[in-house]
Amino acid sequence: MRIAIIGAGPAGLFLGSALARRGHAVVAVDRDPGPVGGEPWARRGVMQFHHAHAFRQTVSDALTREIPEALEGWVDAGAEPVDAATVATSAGVGMRSTRELFERALHRAACATPGFEVGRGHVDSVVVHDGRAAGVVVDGTAYDADLVVDASGRAGRVTRGLGRRAEVGGPCGMAYVDRVYRLRPGAEPGPMTNPIAWQGDFDGYLGLVFRHEQGKFSVVIARGVVDSALRDLRQNSAFDAAMSAIPGLDVWTDLERAEPVTDVLPGGPLLDVYRGQVDEDGDLVLPGLVFIGDSVATTTPVFGRGITTTLWQCEALLSLLDHDDGDLAGLGLALDAWCTDLMRPWVEDHILMDGDRVARWSGCDVDLEAPLPSDLILEAAKVRPEIMESAGGYLTMAALPASLRVAEPIAREVYAGGWRPAYSPGPSRTELAEIVAGAVGRTPA
Ligand SMILES: Cc1cc2nc3c(=O)[nH]c(=O)nc-3n(C[C@H](O)[C@H](O)[C@H](O)COP(=O)(O)OP(=O)(O)OC[C@H]3O[C@@H](n4cnc5c(N)ncnc54)[C@H](O)[C@@H]3O)c2cc1C
Repeated sequence: MRIAIIGAGPAGLFLGSALARRGHAVVAVDRDPGPVGGEPWARRGVMQFHHAHAFRQTVSDALTREIPEALEGWVDAGAEPVDAATVATSAGVGMRSTRELFERALHRAACATPGFEVGRGHVDSVVVHDGRAAGVVVDGTAYDADLVVDASGRAGRVTRGLGRRAEVGGPCGMAYVDRVYRLRPGAEPGPMTNPIAWQGDFDGYLGLVFRHEQGKFSVVIARGVVDSALRDLRQNSAFDAAMSAIPGLDVWTDLERAEPVTDVLPGGPLLDVYRGQVDEDGDLVLPGLVFIGDSVATTTPVFGRGITTTLWQCEALLSLLDHDDGDLAGLGLALDAWCTDLMRPWVEDHILMDGDRVARWSGCDVDLEAPLPSDLILEAAKVRPEIMESAGGYLTMAALPASLRVAEPIAREVYAGGWRPAYSPGPSRTELAEIVAGAVGRTPA
């Protein structure tokens, strides 16, 4: 089959290489030129490219199944398995890496796949013939294809004009900034709250540290979009002052032990969005066109799930194509059913959790009339440890969010009794706003 993929991010590269390995003739087109030797890779079309990424074991496992050279190249380039186990096992926890290191390794391995071509260009539109997708138009030139895959990411627009896909979610009300540091030679890492990250839940904001390769790490501060008093955190001086004032982050960013390797990186509004393959009536937007990756499921980085859900969708499509009988409408509908069952629940989990967190940042109490968000169910394990017996599958993503709901009645009892999670020790949002205002010479609001 001739397959055209719009976008060569993690979805387009992984899927394209895996399809070519199955004998299909595949082209992925991306407006980005790709990495050039060892030069810095700007990658302007993917706003999160230089921002903090954590890599779950599920990412390494998917590479092992489909493109093992990408995993080997990733580790050879410096990515560090969290448990230091051999890279070929699935016993690990995750990989310490920047997004750039990951995508360079994937790009190199994918581009070396016979039958897979990664081209540079802007996909202007999808060719429609006899009511089905028949190719793509790249910079004014049409190319034929039997199947078109939209892997254009969370902000891709090229197929939007073909029809409105059924959608849930939107901006979740969180904004963030982050900055990349490197530990100085011989310096020990700072504290961790789990094998992949350090997390502090403060009164009105969230602090995170994700470790990358070779001593690099990212520090993230997430806040409510409406919280304009913390907007100046995007200035280095304000971020530095915040780092000195927040316990935990002060240890990580102590200049005696670590040095910044970037300026503060301001992020855009964070999204939790699910878009199916079909419109509100359940009809395919266009037979022969399928959607994959962030163009289907976009979640905030708080739980580091995006690349996992992306690669799992690719694997689901591969499996459907392996059993393909030429019915492209059936293919789209089958993928939609799979995404509805196995992707949408993760996005809905985030919509509830992230929206509720933002409401709590604004002073709202736990809403006992509504379903409890997953983070609050997990927090209640501090007083009812048996909750963790139902949490393993949810945390590793081996089981859907519904698996954690089993513990919801216990958590509900905890909150109905008046218990609330304690904030991490550190400045409240109001105190942090004063620190930020002082650092940039502004009068606090
Ligand atoms: C701030 C932030 C932090 C994140 N942190 C994590 C994390 O810690 N762990 C994790 O697992 N996930 C994380 N994610 C999610 C992860 O980044 C995404 O899941 C991943 O990028 C999805 O890959 P994709 O290939 O679907 O889309 P993208 O990476 O967005 O790639 C889409 C590609 O399509 C190209 N494109 C779009 N339109 C066109 C066109 N018309 N013509 C040609 N090319 C086009 C773009 O240039 C781009 O290269 C994070 C996301 C954000 C926003």
